[in-house]
Amino acid sequence: MRIDLHTHSTASDGTDSPAELVRNAAAAGLDVVALTDHDTTRGHAEAIAALPEGLTLVTGAELSCRLDGVSMHMLAYLFDPENAELLAERELVRDDRVPRAKGMIAKLNELGVPVTWEQVARIAGDGSVGRPHIASALVELGVVPTVSDAFTQNWLADGARAYVAKHETDPFEAIRLVKAAGGVTVFAHPAATKRGRTVPETSIAKLAEAGLDGIEVDHMDHDPATRDRLRGLAADVGLLTTGSSDYHGSRKTCVLGEYTTDPEIYGEITRRATGAFPVPGAGGRRA
Ligand SMILES: [Zn+2]
Ligand SMILES: [Zn+2]
Repeated sequence: MRIDLHTHSTASDGTDSPAELVRNAAAAGLDVVALTDHDTTRGHAEAIAALPEGLTLVTGAELSCRLDGVSMHMLAYLFDPENAELLAERELVRDDRVPRAKGMIAKLNELGVPVTWEQVARIAGDGSVGRPHIASALVELGVVPTVSDAFTQNWLADGARAYVAKHETDPFEAIRLVKAAGGVTVFAHPAATKRGRTVPETSIAKLAEAGLDGIEVDHMDHDPATRDRLRGLAADVGLLTTGSSDYHGSRKTCVLGEYTTDPEIYGEITRRATGAFPVPGAGGRRA
Protein backbone atom coordinates (compact mmCIF):
# COMPACT_ATOMS: atom_id res chain seq x y z
CA MET A 1 0.00 0.00 0.00
CA ARG A 2 1.47 3.39 -1.03
CA ILE A 3 0.48 6.33 1.16
CA ASP A 4 1.40 9.99 0.59
CA LEU A 5 0.16 12.24 3.41
CA HIS A 6 1.17 15.74 2.29
CA THR A 7 0.16 17.43 -1.01
CA HIS A 8 -0.95 20.86 -2.23
CA SER A 9 -3.48 21.86 -4.91
CA THR A 10 -4.52 25.15 -6.48
CA ALA A 11 -6.60 25.70 -3.32
CA SER A 12 -3.27 26.97 -1.93
CA ASP A 13 0.07 27.04 -3.76
CA GLY A 14 0.06 23.81 -5.79
CA THR A 15 -0.42 23.82 -9.56
CA ASP A 16 -2.83 20.85 -9.92
CA SER A 17 -6.51 21.51 -9.31
CA PRO A 18 -7.85 19.23 -6.56
CA ALA A 19 -9.45 17.01 -9.26
CA GLU A 20 -6.19 16.82 -11.22
CA LEU A 21 -4.31 16.06 -8.04
CA VAL A 22 -6.34 12.99 -7.14
CA ARG A 23 -6.23 11.75 -10.75
CA ASN A 24 -2.44 12.20 -10.77
CA ALA A 25 -2.19 10.45 -7.40
CA ALA A 26 -4.02 7.42 -8.78
CA ALA A 27 -1.86 7.48 -11.93
CA ALA A 28 1.25 7.58 -9.68
CA GLY A 29 0.09 4.30 -8.11
CA LEU A 30 -0.91 5.72 -4.74
CA ASP A 31 -3.55 3.97 -2.63
CA VAL A 32 -3.96 6.84 -0.17
CA VAL A 33 -3.34 10.57 -0.64
CA ALA A 34 -3.86 13.42 1.83
CA LEU A 35 -4.80 16.87 0.52
CA THR A 36 -3.16 19.35 2.90
CA ASP A 37 -3.45 22.85 1.46
CA HIS A 38 -2.12 25.76 3.52
CA ASP A 39 -4.70 26.92 6.05
CA THR A 40 -7.69 25.84 3.96
CA THR A 41 -9.95 22.86 3.32
CA ARG A 42 -11.44 24.52 0.24
CA GLY A 43 -10.14 21.87 -2.19
CA HIS A 44 -11.67 18.89 -0.39
CA ALA A 45 -15.10 18.85 -2.06
CA GLU A 46 -13.65 18.92 -5.58
CA ALA A 47 -11.11 16.21 -4.69
CA ILE A 48 -13.82 13.98 -3.22
CA ALA A 49 -16.06 14.47 -6.27
CA ALA A 50 -13.22 13.48 -8.62
CA LEU A 51 -11.75 10.69 -6.48
CA PRO A 52 -10.84 7.72 -8.72
CA GLU A 53 -11.75 4.17 -7.81
CA GLY A 54 -9.09 2.55 -5.64
CA LEU A 55 -7.72 5.81 -4.23
CA THR A 56 -8.58 6.88 -0.67
CA LEU A 57 -8.51 10.58 0.27
CA VAL A 58 -7.39 11.77 3.70
CA THR A 59 -8.73 15.27 4.28
CA GLY A 60 -6.35 17.69 5.97
CA ALA A 61 -4.61 21.04 5.99
CA GLU A 62 -1.16 22.42 6.69
CA LEU A 63 -1.45 25.04 9.41
CA SER A 64 0.92 28.03 9.60
CA CYS A 65 2.38 28.16 13.10
CA ARG A 66 5.13 30.01 14.93
CA LEU A 67 7.01 28.99 18.05
CA ASP A 68 9.45 31.38 19.77
CA GLY A 69 9.71 33.45 16.59
CA VAL A 70 10.35 30.44 14.33
CA SER A 71 7.80 29.67 11.59
CA MET A 72 6.73 26.04 11.42
CA HIS A 73 4.06 24.00 9.65
CA MET A 74 1.62 21.66 11.35
CA LEU A 75 -0.16 19.02 9.28
CA ALA A 76 -3.65 18.35 10.58
CA TYR A 77 -5.61 15.30 9.42
CA LEU A 78 -9.20 14.13 9.59
CA PHE A 79 -10.51 16.96 11.76
CA ASP A 80 -14.11 18.12 11.57
CA PRO A 81 -13.95 20.81 8.86
CA GLU A 82 -16.95 22.62 10.38
CA ASN A 83 -15.42 22.98 13.85
CA ALA A 84 -16.07 26.66 14.62
CA GLU A 85 -13.01 27.38 16.74
CA LEU A 86 -10.62 25.81 14.24
CA LEU A 87 -12.38 27.59 11.35
CA ALA A 88 -12.00 30.95 13.08
CA GLU A 89 -8.28 30.43 13.60
CA ARG A 90 -7.75 29.35 9.97
CA GLU A 91 -9.61 32.45 8.78
CA LEU A 92 -7.39 34.65 10.93
CA VAL A 93 -4.32 33.17 9.25
CA ARG A 94 -5.85 33.29 5.76
CA ASP A 95 -7.14 36.84 5.99
CA ASP A 96 -3.60 37.93 6.65
CA ARG A 97 -2.25 36.40 3.44
CA VAL A 98 -3.25 39.19 1.02
CA PRO A 99 -1.93 42.15 3.07
CA ARG A 100 1.19 40.14 3.73
CA ALA A 101 1.76 39.39 0.03
CA LYS A 102 1.20 43.07 -0.77
CA GLY A 103 3.76 43.98 1.91
CA MET A 104 6.35 41.69 0.31
CA ILE A 105 5.58 43.13 -3.14
CA ALA A 106 6.14 46.67 -1.75
CA LYS A 107 9.52 45.58 -0.34
CA LEU A 108 10.47 44.01 -3.68
CA ASN A 109 9.49 47.23 -5.47
CA GLU A 110 11.77 49.15 -3.08
CA LEU A 111 14.52 46.73 -4.08
CA GLY A 112 13.92 47.63 -7.72
CA VAL A 113 11.93 44.53 -8.71
CA PRO A 114 8.90 45.57 -10.83
CA VAL A 115 6.56 42.85 -9.50
CA THR A 116 2.90 43.86 -9.14
CA TRP A 117 -0.04 42.61 -7.08
CA GLU A 118 -1.95 41.97 -10.35
CA GLN A 119 0.82 39.62 -11.53
CA VAL A 120 0.94 37.70 -8.24
CA ALA A 121 -2.87 37.52 -8.03
CA ARG A 122 -2.99 36.12 -11.58
CA ILE A 123 -0.43 33.43 -10.66
CA ALA A 124 -2.28 32.55 -7.44
CA GLY A 125 -5.62 32.31 -9.30
CA ASP A 126 -8.17 30.83 -6.90
CA GLY A 127 -5.48 29.67 -4.48
CA SER A 128 -4.78 31.38 -1.17
CA VAL A 129 -1.81 33.57 -2.03
CA GLY A 130 1.58 32.67 -0.58
CA ARG A 131 5.30 33.14 -1.02
CA PRO A 132 5.60 30.49 -3.79
CA HIS A 133 3.28 32.62 -5.96
CA ILE A 134 5.53 35.65 -5.45
CA ALA A 135 8.53 33.42 -6.15
CA SER A 136 6.93 32.33 -9.44
CA ALA A 137 6.48 36.02 -10.33
CA LEU A 138 10.21 36.57 -9.69
CA VAL A 139 10.95 33.66 -12.07
CA GLU A 140 8.65 35.20 -14.71
CA LEU A 141 10.49 38.50 -14.35
CA GLY A 142 13.86 36.77 -14.74
CA VAL A 143 14.99 37.88 -11.26
CA VAL A 144 15.77 34.29 -10.21
CA PRO A 145 16.04 31.13 -12.36
CA THR A 146 13.79 28.91 -10.20
CA VAL A 147 11.23 29.20 -7.41
CA SER A 148 13.63 27.74 -4.85
CA ASP A 149 16.22 30.41 -5.73
CA ALA A 150 13.73 32.98 -4.45
CA PHE A 151 13.74 31.34 -1.01
CA THR A 152 17.09 32.81 0.03
CA GLN A 153 18.15 35.64 2.33
CA ASN A 154 18.34 37.84 -0.79
CA TRP A 155 14.60 37.58 -1.42
CA LEU A 156 11.83 35.68 0.33
CA ALA A 157 13.28 33.32 2.95
CA ASP A 158 12.26 33.92 6.58
CA GLY A 159 13.82 37.20 7.67
CA ALA A 160 15.07 37.98 4.13
CA ARG A 161 15.11 41.43 2.51
CA ALA A 162 11.59 41.17 1.08
CA TYR A 163 10.09 38.99 3.82
CA VAL A 164 7.01 40.00 5.79
CA ALA A 165 5.78 37.88 8.71
CA LYS A 166 2.15 36.78 8.80
CA HIS A 167 -0.21 35.77 11.56
CA GLU A 168 0.75 32.29 12.63
CA THR A 169 -0.83 30.05 15.24
CA ASP A 170 0.95 29.00 18.40
CA PRO A 171 1.58 25.27 17.77
CA PHE A 172 0.41 24.27 21.26
CA GLU A 173 -2.86 26.04 20.46
CA ALA A 174 -2.97 24.36 17.04
CA ILE A 175 -2.59 20.92 18.66
CA ARG A 176 -5.37 21.76 21.11
CA LEU A 177 -7.70 23.09 18.39
CA VAL A 178 -7.14 20.16 16.02
CA LYS A 179 -7.63 17.62 18.81
CA ALA A 180 -10.84 19.36 19.90
CA ALA A 181 -12.00 19.00 16.29
CA GLY A 182 -11.23 15.27 16.35
CA GLY A 183 -8.08 15.53 14.23
CA VAL A 184 -4.49 14.30 14.35
CA THR A 185 -1.38 16.54 14.17
CA VAL A 186 1.95 15.87 12.50
CA PHE A 187 4.77 18.46 12.60
CA ALA A 188 5.74 18.96 8.91
CA HIS A 189 9.41 18.90 7.82
CA PRO A 190 10.61 19.80 11.35
CA ALA A 191 14.30 19.93 10.39
CA ALA A 192 14.08 21.60 6.96
CA THR A 193 16.96 23.98 7.70
CA LYS A 194 17.14 25.40 4.19
CA ARG A 195 13.72 26.97 4.72
CA GLY A 196 15.07 29.01 7.63
CA ARG A 197 15.46 28.47 11.36
CA THR A 198 13.92 25.32 12.80
CA VAL A 199 12.58 24.63 16.28
CA PRO A 200 14.94 22.81 18.68
CA GLU A 201 14.39 19.15 19.57
CA THR A 202 13.58 20.12 23.16
CA SER A 203 10.55 21.98 21.78
CA ILE A 204 9.49 18.93 19.74
CA ALA A 205 9.56 16.94 22.99
CA LYS A 206 7.33 19.57 24.63
CA LEU A 207 4.92 19.48 21.68
CA ALA A 208 4.79 15.69 22.05
CA GLU A 209 3.89 16.11 25.72
CA ALA A 210 1.14 18.52 24.67
CA GLY A 211 -0.43 15.90 22.40
CA LEU A 212 1.39 16.16 19.08
CA ASP A 213 0.84 12.84 17.29
CA GLY A 214 3.80 12.67 14.94
CA ILE A 215 6.60 14.24 12.93
CA GLU A 216 7.24 14.10 9.22
CA VAL A 217 10.60 12.36 8.79
CA ASP A 218 10.93 11.22 5.17
CA HIS A 219 10.77 14.53 3.31
CA MET A 220 12.88 15.98 0.49
CA ASP A 221 14.29 18.67 2.80
CA HIS A 222 15.75 16.11 5.25
CA ASP A 223 19.02 14.37 4.45
CA PRO A 224 19.54 10.74 5.55
CA ALA A 225 21.41 11.69 8.75
CA THR A 226 18.62 14.10 9.72
CA ARG A 227 16.01 11.39 9.15
CA ASP A 228 17.90 8.98 11.39
CA ARG A 229 18.14 11.61 14.11
CA LEU A 230 14.42 12.44 13.85
CA ARG A 231 13.48 8.76 13.97
CA GLY A 232 15.51 8.42 17.17
CA LEU A 233 13.84 11.48 18.68
CA ALA A 234 10.38 10.18 17.72
CA ALA A 235 11.11 6.84 19.39
CA ASP A 236 12.34 8.63 22.54
CA VAL A 237 9.29 10.84 22.96
CA GLY A 238 6.63 8.53 21.54
CA LEU A 239 5.79 10.19 18.23
CA LEU A 240 4.60 8.58 15.01
CA THR A 241 6.81 9.15 11.94
CA THR A 242 5.47 9.84 8.47
CA GLY A 243 6.89 10.24 4.97
CA SER A 244 5.38 12.43 2.26
CA SER A 245 6.14 14.16 -1.02
CA ASP A 246 4.90 17.67 -0.09
CA TYR A 247 3.86 17.72 -3.76
CA HIS A 248 3.14 21.16 -5.26
CA GLY A 249 2.56 20.12 -8.89
CA SER A 250 5.04 21.77 -11.23
CA ARG A 251 5.94 24.50 -8.73
CA LYS A 252 8.41 22.24 -6.93
CA THR A 253 10.47 19.32 -8.15
CA CYS A 254 9.11 16.51 -5.94
CA VAL A 255 6.73 13.95 -7.47
CA LEU A 256 3.70 12.28 -5.90
CA GLY A 257 4.68 9.28 -3.80
CA GLU A 258 8.36 10.29 -3.74
CA TYR A 259 8.22 9.55 -0.01
CA THR A 260 5.53 7.49 1.63
CA THR A 261 4.14 6.59 5.06
CA ASP A 262 4.18 3.12 6.58
CA PRO A 263 0.71 1.50 6.39
CA GLU A 264 0.78 0.68 10.13
CA ILE A 265 1.38 4.31 11.01
CA TYR A 266 -1.36 5.37 8.61
CA GLY A 267 -3.65 2.89 10.38
CA GLU A 268 -2.77 4.44 13.74
CA ILE A 269 -3.53 7.96 12.43
CA THR A 270 -6.96 6.87 11.20
CA ARG A 271 -7.65 5.10 14.52
CA ARG A 272 -6.86 8.25 16.50
CA ALA A 273 -9.00 10.52 14.30
CA THR A 274 -12.66 11.07 15.18
CA GLY A 275 -13.44 14.30 13.30
CA ALA A 276 -13.63 12.80 9.80
CA PHE A 277 -13.00 9.49 8.06
CA PRO A 278 -10.82 8.71 5.03
CA VAL A 279 -12.94 8.88 1.88
CA PRO A 280 -12.71 5.87 -0.45
CA GLY A 281 -12.94 6.54 -4.19
CA ALA A 282 -16.27 5.57 -5.72
CA GLY A 283 -16.49 1.80 -5.71
CA GLY A 284 -12.89 1.62 -4.50
CA ARG A 285 -11.55 -0.50 -1.69
CA ARG A 286 -11.40 1.03 1.75
CA ALA A 287 -7.84 1.50 2.98
ZN1 LIG B 1 5.26 23.07 4.84
ZN1 LIG C 1 3.42 21.52 2.40
